[in-house]
Amino acid sequence: MDSGRLKRAAKRRMLRWTRSMRELDRDSYSCLVDYHIHTRLCGHAIGEPADYVREAIRKGLTEIGFSDHMPLLHIRDEGLTMAPDELPIYAELVRDVQESVESMEIRFGIEMDYIAGQMDEVWEAAAPYEFDYVYGALHYLDGWDFGDSRRLSSYVGKNPDDMYVRYFELFCEAVEKGGFDIMAHPDLVKKHGVRTSLPVDEMYREAAEALAEHDVAIEVNSSGLRKKAQELYPALDFLKTCVERGVAVTLGSDAHAPQQVGMDFDLAVKHMKRAGVTEIATFQGRKRVMRPL
Ligand SMILES: [Zn+2]
Ligand SMILES: [Zn+2]
Repeated sequence: MDSGRLKRAAKRRMLRWTRSMRELDRDSYSCLVDYHIHTRLCGHAIGEPADYVREAIRKGLTEIGFSDHMPLLHIRDEGLTMAPDELPIYAELVRDVQESVESMEIRFGIEMDYIAGQMDEVWEAAAPYEFDYVYGALHYLDGWDFGDSRRLSSYVGKNPDDMYVRYFELFCEAVEKGGFDIMAHPDLVKKHGVRTSLPVDEMYREAAEALAEHDVAIEVNSSGLRKKAQELYPALDFLKTCVERGVAVTLGSDAHAPQQVGMDFDLAVKHMKRAGVTEIATFQGRKRVMRPL
């Protein structure tokens, strides 16, 4: 490793350390939720559901939800999602912790990719399950898995401006046609540090209007701080634009390891308050209930 890389690694360790020192107190955690928690079934998360629950209890959260990746129909990749025949196992894993843990509410959710032309089939596969909420997500741009950290070489030759434009077009389409309750990590397009030189205000405004019109909530997601983006999803201006139009907001860590449950929620709460969020959206049986933040 060269000295530049060593310095960057040391800086990352320092950032992680300062972040862990800023953990919220239990009282502050008790009025929040963490709705974005994965399980080992997706092939890129570790730990048992009980380990995630233990961490949530330790931090003082009183309500969490699992929302693993819905099986993809157009591609089978063991490192991306569970297989279609593993959905019943996922439901059982969540049911087991729901039944064994009495000290907190544990919701049963799912994170569904919006893939144009396939949603009827996806919803058919999801129909037997009584989810408390369904996240919509855009990890794909016309078949390109831009979110996949294992294949960053696929970014070579891609134009950031085109990525942003297409991402937000698909985002609005997903809001209109996806049938989702919440849009996860609303500006995931920036995950690997991509920035556009185009003005984003118009993209944010159209996205926010679609969300308001179709009454779809958004998620403030802290995982961007752990990625090259180095900021929360969505950007403050995007969040403000949504809040101004009355879009409901919920919260998730996108935990793929137990210690990530509730991670960086101090920053997430500050971000929400700066944007004017006063209530947090909670879900049960796909019904939304707002709770004071
Ligand atoms: Zn994942
Ligand atoms: Zn995601």
